[in-house]
Amino acid sequence: MQNFSYHSHTHALNKYDGKNTAAEMIKQAELIGFKELGITNHLCYHPNLTPSNPMAYNDIKKAIEDYKAIIEEIRQAAKSSAIKIYAGFEVDFFPSKKWRDSFEKIMSEIKADYYIGASHFMRNKDETDIINPYDVLLHGYPYPHEELVKNFPNCWDNVVESIKSGYFAFIAHLDLYKIFNLGVGPEWDKPKWKIIDALSESKQPYELNTSGWNKCNEQHPHTWMLKELNRRDVPVVISDDAHSTAMLGQHYQRAEDLLQEIGYQKRFKFPF
Ligand SMILES: [Zn+2]
Ligand SMILES: [Zn+2]
Repeated sequence: MQNFSYHSHTHALNKYDGKNTAAEMIKQAELIGFKELGITNHLCYHPNLTPSNPMAYNDIKKAIEDYKAIIEEIRQAAKSSAIKIYAGFEVDFFPSKKWRDSFEKIMSEIKADYYIGASHFMRNKDETDIINPYDVLLHGYPYPHEELVKNFPNCWDNVVESIKSGYFAFIAHLDLYKIFNLGVGPEWDKPKWKIIDALSESKQPYELNTSGWNKCNEQHPHTWMLKELNRRDVPVVISDDAHSTAMLGQHYQRAEDLLQEIGYQKRFKFPF
């Protein structure tokens, strides 16, 4: 069974959305027999973002300052650990040159160990309007639901472009939006095939995210996508996307069973 997670979150700076500290997550990882742990809090920066939560930034200086502090906390906690610890980030990717330039500046300053590509936000074409679907669906603010649905197709482009960007060790939850019951019908198969093609062309690793089993009773991505990606020899890694110590290694046996059933060949792992 896979004995590591490269996708986990902490309550960094007392404001991020994990429940535990880096030290607590590391201790638990050791306890359950993990040999490695990657802590990847959200890297959520865009100059046009109206920060709706404390993890979102439109001020690059403040973002860099906080990201450096988050990495420092992980590296301090790692000093007394017997297992290999990585300080990474789960990055909200945007396709524009403006965003890419900013992200490259952030990477050159903070020097994290690796980055996971993700797309949680929705946006209009020119990225002047960026929407957090959690705000819309959980609080109905500040956009009506119709606005969200109108901009939804862009989400698939974000995923495809993040794959092509070459920035990322692997790509997170390819079909995230099914937790909001968005992008689930057969009319959304086309963009999913585009994602499969992009992953296949670059042999970009991606994750089987087990937290989907908590949120919508299915892992990310769909089983048919896993089968197709195996057929095309794209490496997969199991992620618990743990937001608490209790979630570390959660549903790993189920994920292993599924991969075995599919006959999955290629697994992603950092060399160390
Ligand atoms: Zn995520
Ligand atoms: Zn995550």
